[in-house]
Amino acid sequence: MNAQKLSKRLETVASFVPTGAIVADIGSDHAYLPCYLVHKGIAARAVAGEVVKGPYESAVKQVRTEGLTDKITVRMADGLAAVEEADEITAVTIAGMGGPLIVSILEKHPQALKSVTRLILQPNIHAKAIREWAMENGWAIQDEVILEEDGKIYEVLVLQRGEMKLNEAQTLLGPKLMETKVPVFIEKWSREIANWQRVQQAISEAEKTPDNQEKYEQLTHYIKMVQEAIA
Ligand code: SAM
Repeated sequence: MNAQKLSKRLETVASFVPTGAIVADIGSDHAYLPCYLVHKGIAARAVAGEVVKGPYESAVKQVRTEGLTDKITVRMADGLAAVEEADEITAVTIAGMGGPLIVSILEKHPQALKSVTRLILQPNIHAKAIREWAMENGWAIQDEVILEEDGKIYEVLVLQRGEMKLNEAQTLLGPKLMETKVPVFIEKWSREIANWQRVQQAISEAEKTPDNQEKYEQLTHYIKMVQEAIA
């Protein structure tokens, strides 16, 4: 992967950035995504935010190497603290982290989202946390994609401002993904069901406690809900 040729995962994230957007890419080690977006003429300019020194330095170096210092500002900062009001950011990308970490980044500096109309989020795990946050914070799912790369399954969530109400299954699995039911989606949730069944097997072989019983019943509920959704 480099700034010209992204991974399939980041290319999918890039495909949802509107042309002319002013982008903040948070957690931008190497700054590949913002460099790609500016090179392709998709982003007008960008901010690359990175909290760890090593990846921050890689991002600075990459932006210089690509000759994009006039279009991309790299800032070492925690999450959306990398965004300044004068940047007038219109789209935020956060990729390659867990859903709860992405949510904590969105929650910590809400004022940084003032001018933002689109969020493109790629949680490696627990996308559910993002859907819950979106529902509670005036964001609605515009699109969702699920893809497999190098044996790993990733979800990309595209949010725009708006109200959204999801039921329990939609919050866990994704309302758009439940509609399309592509083979990778079925594969992801079949794997999850198999994991839950293994946990249930272990519980049934362990000491019978109220906690174990509750966990077993909770898993039965999830297995039934997901089996119905992927049927
Ligand atoms: N976004 C790139 C991608 O998807 O390929 C990099 C993903 S990498 C696994 C996660 C990056 O996010 C790391 O460089 C890490 O230092 C950075 N990161 C984690 N928490 C952060 C935070 N609160 N603010 C900014 N960057 C953060």
